[in-house]
Amino acid sequence: MIRTRFAPSPTGYLHIGGVRTALFSWAFARKHGGVFVLRIEDTDLERSTPESVKAILDGMHWVGLDYDEGPFYQTQRFDRYKEVIQQLLDAGHAYHCYASKEELDAMRAEQEARGEKPRYDRRWRPEEGKVLPAPPEGVSPVVRFRNPLDGVVAWDDAVKGRIEISNTELDDLIIARPDGSPTYNFCVVVDDWDMAISHVIRGDDHVNNTPRQINILKAIGAPLPVYAHLPMILNEDGQKMSKRRDAVSVVDYADKGILPEALLNYLARLGWGHGDDEFFTMEQFVDWFDLKDVSPSASRFNNEKFMWLNAQHIKAADNQRLAELVAPRLASAKVDTANGPALTDVIALVKERVQDLNALALECDYFYARREPSAADLEKHLSAESRERMARFADRLAELADWNAESIHGLFKPFCLDEGIKMGQLGMPLRVLVCGTAQTPSVDAVLALIGRDEVLKRLRA
Ligand code: GLU
Repeated sequence: MIRTRFAPSPTGYLHIGGVRTALFSWAFARKHGGVFVLRIEDTDLERSTPESVKAILDGMHWVGLDYDEGPFYQTQRFDRYKEVIQQLLDAGHAYHCYASKEELDAMRAEQEARGEKPRYDRRWRPEEGKVLPAPPEGVSPVVRFRNPLDGVVAWDDAVKGRIEISNTELDDLIIARPDGSPTYNFCVVVDDWDMAISHVIRGDDHVNNTPRQINILKAIGAPLPVYAHLPMILNEDGQKMSKRRDAVSVVDYADKGILPEALLNYLARLGWGHGDDEFFTMEQFVDWFDLKDVSPSASRFNNEKFMWLNAQHIKAADNQRLAELVAPRLASAKVDTANGPALTDVIALVKERVQDLNALALECDYFYARREPSAADLEKHLSAESRERMARFADRLAELADWNAESIHGLFKPFCLDEGIKMGQLGMPLRVLVCGTAQTPSVDAVLALIGRDEVLKRLRA
């Protein structure tokens, strides 16, 4: 049974790197008919916040990555962690360490003075024939994991290939603090075990934790999951993404008018590929996805490509859904759509012209109220002569038997012939007078949607 998990720490916003991790874990589970688990790693009580938990849950909902189990909260599992810590103590895989902070600082200073890499010297580690000092009075000890002294920890990373770390590189990790609370790496191990995670798919910032986690898993007799460490996403300049410079939070993308399926499509392409396919659905992605096709090197976010992809998804999206997404944007721009064409019809006409939902909203306004044209457009397209000509064209529009794009179109040629002008000399002033901008889709379709009364009102005004 394939079981994967996404295990964010709720210490800020939902980062798009996290969404990519979630996406790959989700897709892998879905592809194999497995289970995708959401686990909130909130043991860092100082940095975890309820707002951040909410941001994660809302973000997962927005992108549409549905989980089958969870959310599980580590803070609700402390009794279980304590139980396993006791088991490790009983089995001799862990021990109490009473070294004070001052002692550890002094130890560190001595090691550094000798030019050695600072590490815990295992002074409280029980060994055969070793006599331990008597535990000091009134000191609450930490619990340390008894890491093997020699040999290597090795795993075949599904993305990075074989990784081997010598046990001599690893300290006897603290797994419980003096107050008994478990530490980060330990909770991850117990959870992955209890939740029967078969594939740990996560960011490669966790590669260093993996050998420690494997040693603890072995000590508690748990099966080892497959590890797949995903490379980082860099910004366009090849730097680590940062809140200050880059859009990193899922909310930033929602605000920018990105469709969730476009974000997922683009994130899927970062570090994974299926031939030259750029635009695809999540069904296709799940069908194609395989960990062996994930690239072990970092990928760069390309904004132009991303926006192009968003435009493709807007084109493909259902107009009713787009209307629901655009309506609040129009409302906050004080555009009243009650007396005008159906928003879905307007969207059908203009959606090919935009790359995001904010731009889509901006393209809809003049169907409901004329924009104030710019001085440059007025000057360029509306001489006294063309104003008079527009009055004559308004008369023809008024007489038209049927009001639709085709019949309006039918007026253009004869009118231009009669006036001795080119189509542009009709279309541009018409656009500027009716819409307030020269940049619109085909003018016959625009006029048809705005409606005869309103078009004539605007032209005559
Ligand atoms: N909580 C960790 C993080 O937010 C992830 C741990 C894991 O995936 O093992 O980066």
